Formats: sequence, structure tokens, C-alpha cells
Amino acid sequence: MKIFMFLLLLVTACCSPVNHEEAISYKVALELVVHEEHSLKYPTVTKALNDAVQEWEQHIPIAPTILTEPKKDSSAFLSVFGLPSFLNRPGIIQVLIDDLQGPGYDLPQNIIGLWQPQHNPPRLLFDGDYLESSPDIAYSTALHELGHVFGVPHIVNKLDGTISGFVVLEDSAEEFVMYPANVPGKGQNKLSEIEINIARHYVLFELTRPRKSSDCSLTSQN
Ligand SMILES: [Zn+2]
Repeated sequence: MKIFMFLLLLVTACCSPVNHEEAISYKVALELVVHEEHSLKYPTVTKALNDAVQEWEQHIPIAPTILTEPKKDSSAFLSVFGLPSFLNRPGIIQVLIDDLQGPGYDLPQNIIGLWQPQHNPPRLLFDGDYLESSPDIAYSTALHELGHVFGVPHIVNKLDGTISGFVVLEDSAEEFVMYPANVPGKGQNKLSEIEINIARHYVLFELTRPRKSSDCSLTSQN
């Protein structure tokens, strides 16, 4: 019996394919670029964004950096970094904290946060004028919009009558960060297992998605 147990242990040890203690850990790089004038004008929203990024970082494998850029014109990135490919890098997101109900925007009323992946670089927009006086809503809005950045769709109730493709629950969807409206008194400031799981899968998928892959310029250090 002792010999059998010894052999069993030996076989188990030899055949374990991965030693998790020695496995290399890696994270997906994410750079959020906030305009300096926005961060100065809306310090509460900027803090909420920072806090929300830190919260997501606790749960999914991301290595986030929040950069403050002095110039409003995004073409300034080119001169600052001198690399035309900078804007095409997959991990860059331009964060605009602005009055989304003000001039220059043509958005439906009551929009307080918006994720616009179709832009290059993608844009994350916040209604600074509204959110600056409501730190809690600013935080839950930042958590929500970052959820979209990480591929998490809206979570709705079965009876909400929304289009398909969302995550549908029997009820209580209002308590989730990814519910599509801010509902007073419902919390919406704690990430759920559902939201974390979707985001975790998505950020790893982002690494290999064909349209996100960038040109290769392998260099030699010789
Ligand atoms: Zn949303």
C-alpha cells in the first residue's frame, strides 16, 4: 500500500502540466488619457474615474495608467510622442469629462456617461457638470462606463422589454453596475460576479482579436 501511494504521488508530480506557483502572470495594458483642463475643472469626476479604475483593477488582469494631457487637440499626441501609430495602439482610450448636455454635443437628454468605441482613439465621455456635485453617482457612472470598456453589456430585467443581446435577469437588475440607468437608492456601486467574469474573459480576448492587432516593428538591440 505504501509503495502504491509513493508511486501515485510520483506519477502525480511528474504529470502535473503547470506549476502555478512558477507561472508567469501578465496583464492587459490600458492607458486612459484625460485632458488636463477637464481634470482641473472636474476634480470629483476625475477622482471617481481613478477610484473606479482601481476597483476594476482589483478584479480583472489590467495594468492601467491614467495620463493627463495638457492639449485638447488629440493630434497633439502625435507631436508629443512623435509616433503616428500612437493613436492606433489598442490600449489607448481618450477620456473626455465635459458637459455632455452643452454645446458641441448632440445627445439625448439625461445622458451622463457614454462609451464611444467607434472613435480612434475610443472615447469615454462623462457629464462633468452633472456629476461633479454627486460623487457617488460619478463613481457608479465611472464603474459602469469602464464596464463597457471591458466589454460588459447592459444587465436588464426580463420584463424591461429591451432588445436581445443584453444579460437578462428575472429581477433586481437595477442593483447592478451595468443596469442602463442610474436609479437612486439601488447602490449600483459594487461589481458583481457576472460583470467581473465577463470583463475578465473580454480583456484576455482583446489580446488576440484580429482587428486590434497592430503592425509589427521588431527591432534589434545590436
Ligand atoms: Zn451603459
